Amino acid sequence: MINKFSLSVFVIAFLSAFSAVQAQSDRWQQKVKYIMDVSMDVEKNTFKGTQRLHYTNNSPDTLTRAFYHLYFNAFQPNSMMDVRSRTISDPDRRVMDRIQKLSPAEIGILKVNSLTMDGKKVDFEHVETILEVNLNKPILPGQTVVFDMDFEGQVPLQVRRAGRDNAEGIRYSMSQWYPKMAAYDRRGWHANPYVGREFYGNFGDFDVKITIDKTYILGGTGYLQNANQIGHGYEDEGVTVPVAKGKNLTWHFTAPNVHDFMWAADPKYTHEKVKMEDGPMVHFLYVKSDKTQENWAKLKGYTVDAIQYMSDNFGKYPYEQYSVVQGGDGGMEYPMSTLITGHRGLQSLVGVTVHELIHSWYYGVLGFNESSEPWLDEGFTTWGTSVVMDAVFKKEDKFVQNGAYTSYFRLAKSGYEEPLTTHGDHYNLNSAYGPGTYNKGAVFVEQLAYVIGKENFNKAMLRLWNDWKYMHPNGHDVIRVMEKTSGLELDWYYDYFIASTKTIDYGVKSVDAVDNQTKITLERVGLMPMPLDVVVTYTDGSQEMIYLPLVIQRGNKPEEKGMPTRIMTVRWPWTNYSQEVQLAKPISSIKSVEIDPSQRLADVNRSNNKLDVSTLMEKK
Ligand SMILES: [Zn+2]
Repeated sequence: MINKFSLSVFVIAFLSAFSAVQAQSDRWQQKVKYIMDVSMDVEKNTFKGTQRLHYTNNSPDTLTRAFYHLYFNAFQPNSMMDVRSRTISDPDRRVMDRIQKLSPAEIGILKVNSLTMDGKKVDFEHVETILEVNLNKPILPGQTVVFDMDFEGQVPLQVRRAGRDNAEGIRYSMSQWYPKMAAYDRRGWHANPYVGREFYGNFGDFDVKITIDKTYILGGTGYLQNANQIGHGYEDEGVTVPVAKGKNLTWHFTAPNVHDFMWAADPKYTHEKVKMEDGPMVHFLYVKSDKTQENWAKLKGYTVDAIQYMSDNFGKYPYEQYSVVQGGDGGMEYPMSTLITGHRGLQSLVGVTVHELIHSWYYGVLGFNESSEPWLDEGFTTWGTSVVMDAVFKKEDKFVQNGAYTSYFRLAKSGYEEPLTTHGDHYNLNSAYGPGTYNKGAVFVEQLAYVIGKENFNKAMLRLWNDWKYMHPNGHDVIRVMEKTSGLELDWYYDYFIASTKTIDYGVKSVDAVDNQTKITLERVGLMPMPLDVVVTYTDGSQEMIYLPLVIQRGNKPEEKGMPTRIMTVRWPWTNYSQEVQLAKPISSIKSVEIDPSQRLADVNRSNNKLDVSTLMEKK
């Protein structure tokens, strides 16, 4: 017999054991395993390949269709990317009308010649950058099926991210190069056409063989399986690499638990590597010239320091290698690797590398959806870039996020700001996307530390990593981690700052003598409510803090290290436009009253944030 008491003990024990095993038990995700074998014709810039995809449907849904991305088809005149690039009113200078001008030998092509599921042919249709597949048999919940295909393609002359012969003469930047199954999650299929913005894919394992002219040196995602046959600096120390017979070499890479696979190739690459003590092998592939050799030599130490800093503070880098590869058209993140342009000054070279590297934590391992929530990925990455750059250059700037705040303030006042919930491809303007997703996104992160307190925030960043790696958390999941760590309610913070363009503006309205005490009146001018840190500076130079949390946050942040002592907490209902605080000190002892001198509050109008009481008294 189970009595009431023992039942509840049993239930509690069961639930806590369960939650310890799996913090997000209701979150399923699809699983992919790609086995690809491609051969490259470096004279014609074309390739042919086979792909076997083991696809596991972990969703509760029965799938009757499937969708593959065919990204290279974007680089054809009149494609959606071409039209979008020519019609947006502030075009990306890298693209403009360059797609329209591509000749037949310069366009990108990715074509599927045959496709079967579990050995039986399926119907498919090429719809520009998406292959629409009608399954002959549905994929049931929990079922794994095997797709086999033959495909071929032509590498486009580089316009955006991927392609051949980039501005610095790198032969192949092979990102988004293979037919890639679109992501399927609780919002269904994500068969977004490739219009310009970024990526989202299901996690899985890759096994990729690339056959290419033997003079080429490769780098990118994955672990080289036949390093001692390939050489080119990948071989183990002391190994004599056999001379390759024939014209080609076949490079065999594997990559576990990633959601994409990039490679780059050039016969002129120099390959250097640094093995970190308790960390990955870091590879550098670049073409040595007077435009690169000095700064790329220095880049190695900075990259290692950055990986170490990120691993120490935000979660240990989990893969065995990371590759910094010269290629692409600026800087772009890929699992275990980045493609960056290499002719740069030292600050710029290190800056772009650190930025793309930090994506490995957010886009790479946590798996933020760059496509529908670009702010999440770029925001955390931009925030982290400022923190890590300050650390590796040992600058110890007082407020390293200043640039992000300045850019956000300009955007907020511009009149063309869009809510950060906008899908990356659907912003009206590039100049709303950039400052919004990168800089307002970074402000979101820094300001979160202001709302919940720096120590809570640091803990929450590690909890985010531990609870959610390889699981594609979204913005609400991130907020929940911050809530669980701090004990505060934060829905309002997401709803106003991410889902709307409402702005923050608070002011110190008046400071008045009331008998031998002082009345401080604060006002909310902007539409977004926020908790306030108000610092009172006395005529003797000492400072005290008055804390005004919002009632709806249902709690207080702890006192933060390095801040003036908190002497009072006054809860502020968001419905009230003004709030009075009674201070048991004579007005003659007060020099000034200031809202958030730390400047972490993204107050768009700081001119009313400080009231200089002593000059006010003199005027009277
Ligand atoms: Zn980025």
